[in-house]
Amino acid sequence: MNVLDLVRDNIKNIKPYSSARDEYKDATSESMIFLDANENPFENGVNRYPDPQQNDVKDLLVNIKNVTKENILLGNGSDEVLDLIFRAFCEPNKDNIITLPPTYGMYSVLANINAIKNKKVLLTEDFQPKVDQIIDAVDNNSKILFLCSPNNPSGNSFSIEKVETLLNNFKGLVVIDEAYIDFSEQESWLNRLEEFPNLVITQTLSKAYGLAGIRLGVCYASKAVISVLNSIKPPYNVNELTQQKAFERLNKVDEVAAEIKAIKQEREQLMNSLESINFISNIYPSDCNFVLVKVDDATKRYNQLIQLGIVIRNRTTQPLCENCLRFTVGTTAENEKLLQALKELQNA
Ligand SMILES: *Cc1c(COP(=O)(O)O)cnc(C)c1O
Repeated sequence: MNVLDLVRDNIKNIKPYSSARDEYKDATSESMIFLDANENPFENGVNRYPDPQQNDVKDLLVNIKNVTKENILLGNGSDEVLDLIFRAFCEPNKDNIITLPPTYGMYSVLANINAIKNKKVLLTEDFQPKVDQIIDAVDNNSKILFLCSPNNPSGNSFSIEKVETLLNNFKGLVVIDEAYIDFSEQESWLNRLEEFPNLVITQTLSKAYGLAGIRLGVCYASKAVISVLNSIKPPYNVNELTQQKAFERLNKVDEVAAEIKAIKQEREQLMNSLESINFISNIYPSDCNFVLVKVDDATKRYNQLIQLGIVIRNRTTQPLCENCLRFTVGTTAENEKLLQALKELQNA
């Protein structure tokens, strides 16, 4: 298959806006005077437009992830990256996407915004894709299949064989959202990018990298797909402060790795302790920095925890998640407080 056939007609021949900083790329050379972008010349650290291609950040990602720069697109959070994918590939009021609830809410929000039909194929009871039903749901206008693995809110990773089958059989883009991949025992699909031209992977600095506040989302895909996304992205979509913070953090991958290790240990500790709570009937396996549990009455327990000053996520209205609560793994002290509160509630 040629993925470029999937691109919307109006996007195929688009000429990207060429910004001042795009035209003259070597903005680092000290001797040059920049009178091209109508910036304020007085230095304050952010008086210049940011690098539209975020080269410094991408250079670090190239090393960490073992891909080329041409395989990377950065955005203002995964939200922007996902929106760009919609806008490049899905024709409003004509095309459709396939999502597998219960999953991340943003796919359906973006589908609505972009006037794209969302065909929903529920996961199985143990939160795995129903491959045959997904293939049955496909029609000629099915452009994107969203696989969130590890999945939010269930916490598990999808079976490698099932994902492979979908990659081989779905004739559109397969977007694997790997927001939680750093907490997972499964390998990233990044290592298989070359193998599947329709594979698109999104990651983020919001979770394991601890930078939710800077909004940096990452898309990895074939050079062809990235070049299409690049042609429609706003020129300065990743601001200078974000690029600086991301650069600092990506230079400290050891620190990040230590935090991930600590969070995973806390997760195991928390899951063990939750077993003693008598109104928790199920603790779902987690490859993420959160744990989904089934309780006797999710809304009642949610409100009780709020009263005790602890905010968690009530997922009871999601399909297959009746009476389920989602706990983010916090610090040791925070998790102990959660546990203490749950113990109080079971004695009340
Ligand atoms: C948290 C989360 C994201 C992150 O989104 P950002 O916009 O990058 O903060 C993406 N996908 C899933 C499934 C998430 O849970």
